[in-house]
Amino acid sequence: MQRNLLVTNKVGKEITITIKEEVDFCPHCHNKITPHILAAFLCDVNFETLNITIRCPNLECQEIFMAEYLTDSGYQFYLHKLIGGNIHVHRFEAHINDISPNFSKIFNEALSAQNSGLTEISGGGFRKALEFLIKDYAIFHNPGDKESIIQSSLGKVIAKYIEDPRIKDVSKRAAWLGNDEAHYYRVWEGKTTVDIKRLIELTVHWITMEKLTTEIIKDL
Ligand SMILES: [Zn+2]
Repeated sequence: MQRNLLVTNKVGKEITITIKEEVDFCPHCHNKITPHILAAFLCDVNFETLNITIRCPNLECQEIFMAEYLTDSGYQFYLHKLIGGNIHVHRFEAHINDISPNFSKIFNEALSAQNSGLTEISGGGFRKALEFLIKDYAIFHNPGDKESIIQSSLGKVIAKYIEDPRIKDVSKRAAWLGNDEAHYYRVWEGKTTVDIKRLIELTVHWITMEKLTTEIIKDL
């Protein structure tokens, strides 16, 4: 979720900037949180780095950590890394791991790279995780098409095997950003990572909804 913040710019004027991705977990207690922002300030000589000091709202934790954001426009900032705490592994539900045993491992490697500020690697890692999840999902339901699914581009597999219109919409952008990855990587890095992570969340959510719906229909 994005959020607007008031910060002081290079000439001492207050400006409103937008952060495109809010931190949604605490790296100390590893719970899902809505961050309690203590301070937000622009730093480095060009004022292109945004540092946010956050306190965990969980009463049993209350630890403080920092989130570092970068910008390419001066007004929109993308999460670059967390400083403080211990980075935690994101656990997916069993049915996701059943469909794609490799997805969780690749996703967590990309997440770990992102949280360490290794953004050259994380964007490509998230895209690879998405490709494994979607192709394994398609193979899970269409085992006879396995070879053709493996050989096809991610965009083609989404068009043919994923029915949810929201996933189809976002996926067009992700495929487009994915193509630019090697050439315009630095320019698009923040956008690529945010969009692909969102698409992964949507896909995981959609697969879970589909599973629950199938179970309810079977039970009634
Ligand atoms: Zn905490």
